[in-house]
Amino acid sequence: MKKDVLVIGAGASGLMCAIEAAKRGRKVIVIDHANKVGKKILMSGGGRCNFTNYYVEPARFLSQNPHFCKSALNRYTQWDFVALVDKYQLQYHEKTLGQLFCNGKSSEIIEILLSECKKYAVEIELNTEIDAIEELKSNEKKLTERFKIKTSAQGYIVESLVIATGGLSIPTMGATGLGYQIAKDFGIRVLPTSAALVPFVLSEKDKKRYATLSGISVFVEVECRNQSFRENILFTHRGLSGPAMLQISSFWQLGDILHINLVPDAPELAAYLVQGQHKNGSIKLKTLLEELLPKRLLNVFLNETMLNSNIAELATNNLLEVANILQNWQIRPCSTEGYRTAEVTKGGVHCDELSSKTFESKKVKGLYFIGEVIDVTGWLGGYNFQWAWASGWAAGQIV
Ligand SMILES: Cc1cc2nc3c(=O)[nH]c(=O)nc-3n(C[C@H](O)[C@H](O)[C@H](O)COP(=O)(O)OP(=O)(O)OC[C@H]3O[C@@H](n4cnc5c(N)ncnc54)[C@H](O)[C@@H]3O)c2cc1C
Repeated sequence: MKKDVLVIGAGASGLMCAIEAAKRGRKVIVIDHANKVGKKILMSGGGRCNFTNYYVEPARFLSQNPHFCKSALNRYTQWDFVALVDKYQLQYHEKTLGQLFCNGKSSEIIEILLSECKKYAVEIELNTEIDAIEELKSNEKKLTERFKIKTSAQGYIVESLVIATGGLSIPTMGATGLGYQIAKDFGIRVLPTSAALVPFVLSEKDKKRYATLSGISVFVEVECRNQSFRENILFTHRGLSGPAMLQISSFWQLGDILHINLVPDAPELAAYLVQGQHKNGSIKLKTLLEELLPKRLLNVFLNETMLNSNIAELATNNLLEVANILQNWQIRPCSTEGYRTAEVTKGGVHCDELSSKTFESKKVKGLYFIGEVIDVTGWLGGYNFQWAWASGWAAGQIV
């Protein structure tokens, strides 16, 4: 069967690209091995899809080539996606830090994408595996016939082939390494991949030490590799999670220590404690600190006798030590939870192999890579969907 464009992957970027190409009158088919489109959209944002962010800028993306994302992000902005959801009267809200979430369910985003697909006659074939991809030799191909694709359902001859297979995170949701394999088969460089936006696992010793904290969430500042985030940490029975930990996980490497300030809004904590000693020496240390942190957490981090002492009984050095323990907690996670729970995959198809304007391979004419399969990884907060929309839109103008 002949088509102009075949997109592999009916996720965020693949559907956006298909819609844009079909708007130009191209005959587009999207193939996916899953039984539903956009499974990651469905599970995103805790079921409410954090679909973009008011403050999108290139600095919020990690890549070996930090300039690569600029063109697409400038041409298809968060305001363009907001205009699309407004057109469908989707109700949404800003949760925090510019993050836009659906008021209702993530499935409303899928409904918008599927309505657009229907409007422009995009075909979608689910439950379909890709069996083989072949680039037609120049003597056997017409200009509009560049690739032969064999699927578990049938064969296609297409002019443009778009790889939108996403990353490796959550394999149970259909993630595979097919996109990376296709790149390698065509001689396109792929950077090593790793799990990002992912919770940390602690050593057995640390797990025991912090076991009673499971479920506690506090606002912290975390720093690693000269990058810091001020958001919440969540203690879990395996280790450390919450937005602050997910954010820093994209920068962390095995062996690194995390520097965590558990009281980031009290830069003068030591002075506050010493002043407390002068003002009201009969107050217990724990009474002062419980205004700042949960009791359970204080019990794990600080000595019980000290906590129960009147502040006047403690030496200034002890108070300085207390401030240091709470404001310079250093912990070395033993690993992350990996692709099993990661929101995204860092690394992937090397940006220098692609045009940043069209996403076409520089080596293979007619072959495009979009979305998370490329070495562009957004921060937590709607940035990864914005990258999927923007890269899908940009390729959709040309495929
Ligand atoms: C739990 C979770 C929550 C998230 N929440 C958010 C959020 O709120 N905001 C945000 O910005 N980002 C979020 N993300 C990240 C975001 O979902 C992804 O970055 C985004 O979906 C990437 O889009 P994509 O089109 O590149 O890939 P995907 O959306 O992953 O789509 C890839 C598609 O390719 C298909 N595919 C894969 N392999 C094959 C194969 N071998 N054959 C055929 N088809 C194949 C898959 O079935 C899938 O449909 C979240 C991710 C997870 C896992």
